[in-house]
Amino acid sequence: MKGRTLVLQHAVEFVEHRLAPAYPVRDGKQTPMRGHPVFIAQHATATCCRGCLEKWHGVPRGRPLTPSEQRYVVDVIDRWLRRQDPAAPETGEPTLFD
Ligand SMILES: [Zn+2]
Repeated sequence: MKGRTLVLQHAVEFVEHRLAPAYPVRDGKQTPMRGHPVFIAQHATATCCRGCLEKWHGVPRGRPLTPSEQRYVVDVIDRWLRRQDPAAPETGEPTLFD
């Protein structure tokens, strides 16, 4: 099982590469519906694309996310994941497939 730290590390990377640019690649379709717990969390919390971020979180499109906005998004994802799986370990051994 993946520990929370590793999953959140992925969240940080996804947010940085897929959401933070002013004009993300394939914005609106950049977050798959499955394949990683963070993707599921992003759809559940409306942090999946810049359109949802603008509509539900009041973060305007067309400019890069600031570092504090990126932390905010990761935090929203983290809170949702904790509610789903309160028993998840804080850290875990990475598996072959991580
Ligand atoms: Zn969206």
